[in-house]
Amino acid sequence: MKNLCDNDRDCPCTYDCPRHGKCCACVAHHRDHDEGVPGCFFSKEAEATYDRSIAALARDHGIIQ
Ligand code: SF4
Repeated sequence: MKNLCDNDRDCPCTYDCPRHGKCCACVAHHRDHDEGVPGCFFSKEAEATYDRSIAALARDHGIIQ
């Protein structure tokens, strides 16, 4: 399937990874490998913990404590 996704985005994720800026590949990788939420959804501080769980995302956004 042809990739029509914008793959040239600024990427705030600090993990060493070949998918930086390649949003389609990033989301697919996280989905296919059960790796939680991509780093760009988190604040800078929360991203740095590398906890990509839904709970961490909810804490980061003040939804849960
Ligand atoms: S969120 Fe995951 S797949 Fe995306 S750039 Fe960061 S480490 Fe790579």
